[in-house]
Amino acid sequence: MKELVIKCGTLIDGTGKDVIHNARVFLKNGRIIRIDTENSKLDDNTQIIDASNKTVMPGIIDSHKHIINNGGSGIGVGLSIKQIKENIKQIYSGGVTSVLDLGSANFLRFIPKLPIKQPRIFYAITILTCPNGYPAEYMNKKYYKLGSVKECETKEDIKKAIKSLHKKGVSAIKTAVVSRTFDNKPQKCWTDNQLITLTDEAHSYGLKVCAHITYVEDYAQAARCGVDSIHHAAFNGKMNERDVDDMIKKDIIFVPTVSLCDLTIKGLEEQWIYNPAYNPPVNERIKENMRKFTDAYKLCPEDKPVGDFFVKLSKKEFKQALFYQLENIKEYIKRGGKIAMGTDSSLGFSLHTTPIREIELLALAGLSNIEAIKASTFTSASVFGKEKEIGSIETGKLADILIIDGDVSKNLSDLQYIDTVIINGKIKYTKNKKLNLS
Ligand SMILES: [Zn+2]
Repeated sequence: MKELVIKCGTLIDGTGKDVIHNARVFLKNGRIIRIDTENSKLDDNTQIIDASNKTVMPGIIDSHKHIINNGGSGIGVGLSIKQIKENIKQIYSGGVTSVLDLGSANFLRFIPKLPIKQPRIFYAITILTCPNGYPAEYMNKKYYKLGSVKECETKEDIKKAIKSLHKKGVSAIKTAVVSRTFDNKPQKCWTDNQLITLTDEAHSYGLKVCAHITYVEDYAQAARCGVDSIHHAAFNGKMNERDVDDMIKKDIIFVPTVSLCDLTIKGLEEQWIYNPAYNPPVNERIKENMRKFTDAYKLCPEDKPVGDFFVKLSKKEFKQALFYQLENIKEYIKRGGKIAMGTDSSLGFSLHTTPIREIELLALAGLSNIEAIKASTFTSASVFGKEKEIGSIETGKLADILIIDGDVSKNLSDLQYIDTVIINGKIKYTKNKKLNLS
């Protein structure tokens, strides 16, 4: 296989280091084989991509996704193979080269039907929870039967479930630590003993544990019982400072997934679906559901649950949730905690098209642009233990690379100008069909 070299204008390597100007990145057999700044003579048969007035950075990694979900207010609305294929196309067109799918019913059944041209897909398949634990409050049991959720009670149940998921090739174990429902009623949750069994067992297979949490009351339990990443910034108040310190001390990665709430509120308040310029890449059933959701939101008083949404949240709570989420991210960043980028796409108006809003919100909460890119690449890979293979532009790593028409180190919104997406050393997407290959 021929050697490929990318002449970089601005290189952001994803490790958090300062940008390098005028470097060259050499690729061969799907890997990064060398990075230099010396401008030495190239072999005659080396292919060149000239990105000398562009940004070169690692492919984005979304560490919390639901590929099979679409927009709108209900789970499973508009689900079709055609739509899933469209989602996949949108994902890599938006610069995402790897995703961790954290819960999708019947996921494995869809894998053989997915297009060959796709991002790397890592998955957890099933949420492990205690009997009647989250998400029992809203998820129809038919999805449990399709593999979305597995309830476990005894040590043996937990061990058996993890063994079976490991056999199915999962890259992480997804669980939930949620002690109350969205409308503030008590909800069954793991005991410490159960959760420690789960984390110990997952770790014995080399699997990281990702915990869904939404209430300030539950972070302490997750931290003391050994989870590796905590997904979603708390909705209902400011996280306890001691819990935040415990999480940071234990090196827990925080995946705030704040854009889901932000984009949903914006989409509803600004009535995007009635704007002729808003033409989301989703089927008519999903668009119809977005209209229904928008109408229900408009008609609803501030303090009553918004009709047509799968959880009972009022407009007031929606807006408060966004406020608290941002405050909690700021605190985690201020205290030096690790942050990773996950969109939780898709529901509401957060689609699979681009993760830019999530990345911008992380920067708004206090990360520098370079740190926000690290959160969206290297640290995201760490959520499922793949940071030695993907997530940065370093010698020996798999060649998942983006070329951006702009300077991302100065302006994160330049991420919208995706020029080229390279996965495994191969060009999967390019803005110009006639690529500057010489
Ligand atoms: Zn999720």
